[in-house]
Amino acid sequence: MIIAVDGPAASGKGTIAKALARHYRLPHLDTGLLYRAVAATVRRLDLDPAREADAVAACDFDELTLADPVLRTDEIGQLASIVSAHPLVRAALLRRQQRFARQPGGAVLDGRDIGTVIAPDADAKLFVKATPRIRARRRHTELQAHGSTLSFDKVLADIRARDERDSSRSAAPLVRAADAALLDTSFLSIEMSVQKAIALVEERVGPSGDR
Ligand code: C5P
Repeated sequence: MIIAVDGPAASGKGTIAKALARHYRLPHLDTGLLYRAVAATVRRLDLDPAREADAVAACDFDELTLADPVLRTDEIGQLASIVSAHPLVRAALLRRQQRFARQPGGAVLDGRDIGTVIAPDADAKLFVKATPRIRARRRHTELQAHGSTLSFDKVLADIRARDERDSSRSAAPLVRAADAALLDTSFLSIEMSVQKAIALVEERVGPSGDR
């Protein structure tokens, strides 16, 4: 069974995807980390994120980069949304994600284009959303817990800038797949969001999730 979970930054898609993976005992891939690893490599090598050839050169990143805590920073998130707009960067990361999705037994993947490009044939698709202010509040709290001093207004502006870039790019923009179930987490706790996600998956695949 393949489960695709898409949505904007800080919508809760990562937490939901991880919980679904635990519930159905499936492997999970946070595809945003791949773009973040490209961004961190661009920065480390002092390349230009806006130049497609530079960003493509960084797609061959060292696997150890995926575990680097710097990937979680807001700065790398912004850079990731710049490098991810290049069609050749998306093409370079496509096969890896599709291989993960198609492994025997299935998988859960979260990102921006899982239900539309990476696994259009997924058994269940969720599109997770929440208002920009609520997402900014969540991200701000999370960043503060990690010692960041960024203001709420800056975090909100960054979320809006990233939404705009991710939704307006021509290569695999952030859009809800026509057959994706919508899950608005604005006023839901994490537990309720996860319960709702499981219920939505079960509406598609039945209670066992056995496909
Ligand atoms: O999900 P996360 O915030 O870690 O993603 C970082 C950036 O990577 C996003 O803003 C988006 O530009 C890009 N991304 C993407 N396609 C995906 C996952 C992430 O373009 N499947």
